Amino acid sequence: MLILDEIDVSYGPISALRKISLKVPEGAVVAIIGANGAGKSSLLKSIAGWEIPTSGSIRFIDRSINHDITRLPSHKRTDLGIALSPEGRGIFPDQSVRDNLMLGAYLRRHDPAGIERDILHAFARFPILGTRQHQPAGTLSGGEQQMLAITRALMSAPKLLLLDEPSLGLAPLMIQEIFATICALRDEGLTIVLVEQMANQALAIADYAYVLETGDIIQHGKGADLMHDPKVRAAYLGMH
Ligand code: ATP
Repeated sequence: MLILDEIDVSYGPISALRKISLKVPEGAVVAIIGANGAGKSSLLKSIAGWEIPTSGSIRFIDRSINHDITRLPSHKRTDLGIALSPEGRGIFPDQSVRDNLMLGAYLRRHDPAGIERDILHAFARFPILGTRQHQPAGTLSGGEQQMLAITRALMSAPKLLLLDEPSLGLAPLMIQEIFATICALRDEGLTIVLVEQMANQALAIADYAYVLETGDIIQHGKGADLMHDPKVRAAYLGMH
């Protein structure tokens, strides 16, 4: 569904990603793990169109149509079916939970019936969001805000969901719930790229994973295989 071919991303003189190539098959969860500053967020931003690579190409393949999206503006990628739930969640704390969801559906604003159906679906998935739908999003707990961020990304009816550190700052029970949600979304047919520092949990659910280190992919393989790789265990799982 997604093919990155040797992409470079820089911020002025700072090179964040160097010749990154990766593939995301349709219906898979692909995890990107790595330490702080490895370039994980830059990778997701380049897929979502928030950063444009200085070289290389990004292709999005949907229903046998091969789209070169390397330089496509982000709203057109949303139209194609790519949604990003950013690090730090990016929700609007003063707006109500429901209004945050409506903002996620902005590009579908001419489909009010579809939006309402998806909002009801979201409330069935996360009942707390329904209970709190008229409250400012800033009054939700951290875990609830993360659920809102994921749900808002789903409101654009994506085919490819990009999740940037969904477990960040959450309590263990809530982290479990977020990972269970990611598995449920895959079961519903969504393709997911998951950026995580919680390498253990990410590898446990990932069909495939890439390890990023200061802008380079240093290792890749099936999630289960990387979990047993001695180098990955020592560097990212805190095990020897
Ligand atoms: P984290 O988990 O801390 O978010 P990360 O793996 O997601 O880390 P990135 O945020 O992609 O890493 O950062 C990769 C490199 O690019 C880092 O050296 C970072 O300092 C740099 N960088 C990221 N965003 C910018 C920016 N807007 N301007 C300048 N440098 C940046």
